[in-house]
Amino acid sequence: MGNFDLLKVKGVSRRDFMKLIAATTAALGLPELIVPQAASAVEQALNKPPVIWLEGMDCTGCTESAIATLNPSPAELILDMLSIRYHETIMAGSGQTSEEAYQSALKEKFVLVVEGSCPSKAEFDSFCVVGGKPFRKILLEAAQKAQAIIAIGSCASEGAGIPGACASGAIGVAELLRNEGIKTPVINLPCCPVKPTTLIGTVLYYLTYQKVPPLDSQGRPLAFYGSLLHDNCPRRGHFENGEFLTDWNDPIQKEYCLLLKGCKGPKTYTDCAQVWWNDNANFCINAGSPCSGCSEITFYNGFSPLYAKQEMFKLPGIGQVNADTVGTVLGGVAAVGLGVHLVATAASGRLSKKDHKEDM
Ligand code: SF4
Ligand code: SF4
Repeated sequence: MGNFDLLKVKGVSRRDFMKLIAATTAALGLPELIVPQAASAVEQALNKPPVIWLEGMDCTGCTESAIATLNPSPAELILDMLSIRYHETIMAGSGQTSEEAYQSALKEKFVLVVEGSCPSKAEFDSFCVVGGKPFRKILLEAAQKAQAIIAIGSCASEGAGIPGACASGAIGVAELLRNEGIKTPVINLPCCPVKPTTLIGTVLYYLTYQKVPPLDSQGRPLAFYGSLLHDNCPRRGHFENGEFLTDWNDPIQKEYCLLLKGCKGPKTYTDCAQVWWNDNANFCINAGSPCSGCSEITFYNGFSPLYAKQEMFKLPGIGQVNADTVGTVLGGVAAVGLGVHLVATAASGRLSKKDHKEDM
């Protein structure tokens, strides 16, 4: 059966397939000319399944995010068609059969996808054991043989997400490899869970160019993590107007800025405001939840408790205030001639050192 026969069986036309490739390359900022090359690379991948998917200390949420769908879409099918050779959650085999599949895949050229964090050293190994073997050792063995590693979700990325805040000594994949001197390139795709569009776009880029995409200082592809959520937020107008939600039950405040409810948008780089979840159905802030900053290295440990007004901000001429008091402070600051925008910007923690000069 040819590549597109496989897609046809799943109800995906070549037209749908090319539209997906074009949309993904556009999202990555790649020129239109690259579309045929990208399509060809994915076709090759359909022929030559290249993915091993390991799960460490995880909740399987990233797997759910990647494969869950109401109606199978081309995007999900591309993941499906990539023929993941080993994936403990979705593979049909188990026990000895799955172990043989894993050992066989390890002998090929493969891309390693890792979901979940990893114990940092031997003394924590008992926190994560797969098939009687410490996950840390399994990961190190696979990482040394992989062509590239895609760490998906906040737990596998820098900072180790929620497990990183626990007593299990959890770290992300890149940190483990740095500690062990393993040089295999790691691409971090944080978010809790990973977005299917981010994973597909990254796999597509790698298949097309055979190299990792341009990354930021946290190892995240700039194409998906290059913009500040706060700058694209649908509630930004209310932020500028100094309109902050303080009472969930007040319908007048329903669309107000969520800064005082713990929103981490001003410190979070992600495309969440532009590319929504679940086939663009919604995203946290639009649904009324403050951003938890799950795409940042600081998540979860440094950003918790997520809904508490725990952040301290410096306001010009006033000094340190708790976010809890920002709403009250706004009136007083206006009286000394500072605009709401300046105050709101200070409250978000985005003023430069120069801007904060008078408080230093
Ligand atoms: S603080 Fe949060 S809710 Fe308010 S504008 Fe920024 S990102 Fe949006
Ligand atoms: S809006 Fe914030 S908390 Fe929600 S998924 Fe995006 S980065 Fe994570």
